[in-house]
Amino acid sequence: MSLGIDWVTDWIRESARVVSEHRVELITLDREIGDGDHGENLDRGFSAVIQKLDGLPEGAVPSDALKLVATTLISTVGGASGPLVGTAYLKAAGAVGKEERLDGAAVVALLTAARDGVVLRGKAEPGDKTMIDAWTPAVDAAAAALADGRDEVGILEAAADAAETGAEATEPLVARKGRASYLGERAIGHRDPGSQSSALILRAAADTAAKNAGSGSDAAGAS
Ligand code: ADP
Ligand code: MG
Repeated sequence: MSLGIDWVTDWIRESARVVSEHRVELITLDREIGDGDHGENLDRGFSAVIQKLDGLPEGAVPSDALKLVATTLISTVGGASGPLVGTAYLKAAGAVGKEERLDGAAVVALLTAARDGVVLRGKAEPGDKTMIDAWTPAVDAAAAALADGRDEVGILEAAADAAETGAEATEPLVARKGRASYLGERAIGHRDPGSQSSALILRAAADTAAKNAGSGSDAAGAS
């Protein structure tokens, strides 16, 4: 099994759906330790992506879809998260090159490049109470799952599980980056909104990979 453009576009659509579904929750988290716009920012960005997704040309490969997300998020999302998440998708696109099918190693490379893109852009370290605290455990778990011989679905499920745990683990932290860093100890007890949205997006990746693998439709191109 491997994952192709059908998975990537399903992942993007499912990300848009869950971001919209969790919009208020993300706004509430950001209201507690930021300015309350995170759910709005991501929802606006992913809605714009969905508008453009059908315009992908016939024969588009995973990197084309990832690049579309990157440029759209960077141009439509204000705030810190637009450039950060946009850079993640841009670097992810670069990591998979022109490949039509993504195997486990390619999926790990995609996730690693995405995380590295956020770090490149935002200079956050693990423990700074940012989206990196979801992404870094996700990348580590994905690499471990690959080493354990798990398939693409297993790798993405491990990443999603670790991202959720990582997002939860931001609650006791003091923020050292972003708006929440102005709050000092008052940020303690609140989950970082960007880590929560990252966990949602990674869960969407795992769920859609499982669906594509289950239906077998996305594996057709491999034969
Ligand atoms: P803004 O902070 O400009 O209002 P958002 O509310 O959309 O933008 O996004 C806030 C999220 O961005 C935070 O919850 C955090 O996860 C993430 N973030 C902020 N600064 C950084 C950074 N330097 N590196 C990584 N992530 C960051
Ligand atoms: Mg905000």
